[in-house]
Amino acid sequence: MQLAPVAKVNLLGLSPDALKAFFVVQGEKPFRAGQVLQWIHRHGVDNFDAMTNLGKELRARLATVAEIRAPEVALDQVAADGTRKWLLRLADGNCIETVFIPEADRGTLCVSSQVGCTLNCAFCATGHQGFNRNLEPDEIIGQLWLASRLLAGDAGGERIITNVVLMGMGEPLLNFDNVVAAMKLMLDDMAYGLSKRRVTLSTAGVVPMLERLRAECPVSLAVSLHATNDALRNELVPLNRKYPIAELLDACRRYVEGDGRRRVTFEYIMLAGVNDSVAHARELVRLLEGIPAKVNLIPYNPFPQGRFQRSDQNAIDRFRDVLQRANLTTITRKTRGDDIDAACGQLAGRIHDRTPRSQRIARRIATP
Ligand code: SAH
Repeated sequence: MQLAPVAKVNLLGLSPDALKAFFVVQGEKPFRAGQVLQWIHRHGVDNFDAMTNLGKELRARLATVAEIRAPEVALDQVAADGTRKWLLRLADGNCIETVFIPEADRGTLCVSSQVGCTLNCAFCATGHQGFNRNLEPDEIIGQLWLASRLLAGDAGGERIITNVVLMGMGEPLLNFDNVVAAMKLMLDDMAYGLSKRRVTLSTAGVVPMLERLRAECPVSLAVSLHATNDALRNELVPLNRKYPIAELLDACRRYVEGDGRRRVTFEYIMLAGVNDSVAHARELVRLLEGIPAKVNLIPYNPFPQGRFQRSDQNAIDRFRDVLQRANLTTITRKTRGDDIDAACGQLAGRIHDRTPRSQRIARRIATP
């Protein structure tokens, strides 16, 4: 009689505690978890045979019950400016995107948190694609694991990812548990050892989750503000109908309270004739008064179904000058990886939208 093969446990997304529990079930000492964690995440190993501080017999046994499996690379593109984008295929056939952005003093990996997104922001390519599902912890940390491995090859073994931003596809705070599990691995000294200042979560503003994030994993916070009054923000970021600007900004204030070094980054996409006037800039200054803040102005990246236009450079400069005169640190984000569609909001992957049509329409009116 032939027995159906038993699914192997994927160790990639397991927390240190879950890995300890796994070894105890295997009749092994819990300290094996630390060793294996380092092999997987520090050394990027996916083959038990390479784990030379484990006995031969244990290595062979592990290979029969466990595996270290990341998403598959479906496409690997490098832009003229060095930005690199991977299209990753998940076990169920869905695709997500991960982008690496090299700069002189850092290397930033932009990680996805969901297949698609439920929020349907008016200017975002991912939102237009619909939503399929949340990513699992192994699929989130797998993006960092894979990118580290692929880039280390290029850099002769040097670690070149110094920062991670949860700014790819999806709304990370609507996949809270899995995102936090993955971020804890990013911060763990036995795994990636990134400081919490070098891991940034970007949210459209799921207010109740900000309190939990602060309590459970207080990484750097970026908030996609994009508008200075509720009427406009309701249109651009429909989630605002549920959590309006005043509530969101209160939650931001609380997030950085008691930590003098911390600031919230406010992302503000520059849409020609929509939110980019000097009056808007002044309104923004007033809104952010008293909040330790910096502002990232993001030139809108057009995509085929998009109905907006990028503000011209003059409008962006004028807007920036108003903020800077009010002593708000303001950076205009450079558009990176244009030639490979790797820029903000361009990450579309290939999403099999499972949302029924009726729900998709409802979503446009009232978000989750
Ligand atoms: N859901 C999260 C993270 C994903 S979006 C959030 O809303 O923050 C990451 C950033 O890209 C956000 O600031 C988002 O507003 C911005 N973005 C989305 N579409 C864009 C586009 N077409 N051009 C420029 N920035 C865009």
